Amino acid sequence: MFKRFLLIYLGCAAVLTLLLFMFAHYDEKMRVAQLATSELRYVGVARERAEKDFEAAEGDLRIIANMDEMRQYVNTGDSQHADRVADYFLLLARGRQHYNQLRYLDERGQEIIRVNFSEGKPVLVAEKELLNKSSYYYFHNTMQLTRDEIFVSPLDLNVEHHQVEVPYRPVIRFATPVFDSAGRRKGVVVLNYIADEMLQHFQLAMQGSVSGGGMLLNRDGYWLSSPHHDDEWGFMLGKKELTFGHDYPDAWQAISSQESGTLRTAQGLFAFATARPLMFDEHPTMDPSRIDQPEQYKRYAVGYNWKVVSVVPQDVISAGAFFNKPGGQLLSLAAYFLLALGAFAVVISSERHKAAEYALQELALLPEMAPGPVMRVDKAGVICLANTACKELYSMDSIEGMSIFEAIPDLARTDFEEMFGPDENILQVETDIGDAHYFFVLRNDADNKYVFAYGADISPIKLLEEQVRQAQKMEVVGQLAGGIAHDFNTLLGVILGYSDMLRDTLPENSLGRKNIDAILNAGKRAKALVRQLMDFSRLGTNKQEPLQLAALVRESIKLLQPSLPETIIIQQDIREKTASIHGNAVQIGQVILNLCMNAADAMGEKQGVLQISLKESAVDASMAHARNVPAGAYMQLTIADNGCGMSKEILTHVFEPFFTTKEVGRGTGLGLAVVHGIVKSHGGFVVVESEPGKGTQFHVYLPKSRELWVRSGVTGA
Ligand code: ADP
Ligand code: MG
Repeated sequence: MFKRFLLIYLGCAAVLTLLLFMFAHYDEKMRVAQLATSELRYVGVARERAEKDFEAAEGDLRIIANMDEMRQYVNTGDSQHADRVADYFLLLARGRQHYNQLRYLDERGQEIIRVNFSEGKPVLVAEKELLNKSSYYYFHNTMQLTRDEIFVSPLDLNVEHHQVEVPYRPVIRFATPVFDSAGRRKGVVVLNYIADEMLQHFQLAMQGSVSGGGMLLNRDGYWLSSPHHDDEWGFMLGKKELTFGHDYPDAWQAISSQESGTLRTAQGLFAFATARPLMFDEHPTMDPSRIDQPEQYKRYAVGYNWKVVSVVPQDVISAGAFFNKPGGQLLSLAAYFLLALGAFAVVISSERHKAAEYALQELALLPEMAPGPVMRVDKAGVICLANTACKELYSMDSIEGMSIFEAIPDLARTDFEEMFGPDENILQVETDIGDAHYFFVLRNDADNKYVFAYGADISPIKLLEEQVRQAQKMEVVGQLAGGIAHDFNTLLGVILGYSDMLRDTLPENSLGRKNIDAILNAGKRAKALVRQLMDFSRLGTNKQEPLQLAALVRESIKLLQPSLPETIIIQQDIREKTASIHGNAVQIGQVILNLCMNAADAMGEKQGVLQISLKESAVDASMAHARNVPAGAYMQLTIADNGCGMSKEILTHVFEPFFTTKEVGRGTGLGLAVVHGIVKSHGGFVVVESEPGKGTQFHVYLPKSRELWVRSGVTGA
């Protein structure tokens, strides 16, 4: 049962696991898709922030480069004009708040005007502190430009005295050359734009994203901004490995080559967009009203091909999975548990089902195992279902389809038809089937569709009944004989005595003498009959003692031989020489005599063989049961002849008192009745085998041991 449970459970669990995996897969796909959309939105907003923040710087630079004071200063070199420019620088610094330096450098790279802005205050730097910046790349590059061009440095960290300023100060230098009226390049205006704010805006725009913060990468994949601050500014610090491409090589390949999108690698989900601040194609037009000279400015922006990236690591995605949430785990656990319960219930119910089925099968076997016929009959009287016993009884392979009236010959059609009434009907029928006598009980079923017939072989009961009837008859005769035989015998004595005396007084050959002889003859026969009757009535009253049966048989033969016709040959076969029985010698002798006389009668004048044999014989249970004696060791005395034999009809009556087939005066019909009575009183029984013309065998069985005899308890017939 446990094995069955395991089999079912494991099978279902495998399916469930598969389903859960499919669900998990689908769930992740959906979540990632959703995540991708939302991350992409964040990235888009952050990109816009990164692009828009610079627009003001560009405008400011153009205004400075073209303002009257600046022009006058480069034309005249008058320091008064320079002071005004410085004033404007101070004003602009305070107003904008996001320039940390506003400078004018002359054509040698010497700082002429410089306003520093720190801690919310603009400060004009004293002349002696002004430096020469001719060696700096932004000076160089800007001095190459023409009037309509702007140099934009890459976003990097402020460097003071060749040292990266700490705390880091991300800046972008916007610069443009300044020309005098003659068109000579006189110097450079440089605005240091503090990108702090821009980067803050950028991170603010990314706030709420699942990634936990956006990444802003420059063209080479260095972090300008990252949720992990230690990763930032690798190129400024000489740390070449601090690149996005180093950490996410697969993703970087796609991100660096594509404009925007989402991407899934083993490392996680990437949403990205390209930000191109300060690029011409991104900002093709400017407001002409704000620029004195309406010609188009050109910008030289270096490396402004930024990538805005959000990274949602794989473990964050997994953490959101159904199975990694306590609720999901509980639910899965519950599903497996329910499955176990279900499998258990299925097993239990199937076990119960099996048990019920088994019980039904067992029940179905009951009629099958019944020794008697069991049949189901429909209204038309056709047998539609029958057990094996039926087939054996009617010697047919299948009795379905046979008529019930054929199966039970004594069943009346009208009785059968009345069975299909509204009530429960029961009908009992006795009938002969072959040699056997059967008793049938028929009953209708509740639906009144069928009649069920149950049969039993009652032949043994019938036999027993017959035996009882026979025994009762014997008893009556015995009582009758006992009652009258003695008186009758006395009377016969008187009749015979006086007849004898009368005979002597009558002359020989006289009619009187003849008549009296006839009386005497009849009287003698009557006396013999009475003797027999008296023997019969005295059965069981005689004393019984241990007898040597073999010796007794031999002696009896010797005694009766002279009275048999000479045509009869006697054959003896007495094997058991010492076996003793318990009985009465005179009575057993009479049994032998009666049987031998009958045999002689049956053989008549013709050449006959009288066989007398004695042997030990075991009586088995079935035989003992049939004869109503205990099983065990018996002596079997057989007296066989080859005389006329008997018909079946005669055989059924031979032991009845006064049954004879012989002519009046020859047979009394008491010989075998006496034999039967004597044998019975000895605890034994007689078996006859005979067929007309084939002779007869009488087998007399007498129990060997005294014990058997006592137990039989038979005292007389
Ligand atoms: P009886 O001999 O006076 O007729 P029994 O009781 O001895 O009476 O026998 C009854 C009948 O049984 C006989 O009349 C005869 O028909 C038949 N019978 C008995 N023994 C034999 C036998 N050995 N062979 C043929 N028939 C027999
Ligand atoms: Mg006889």
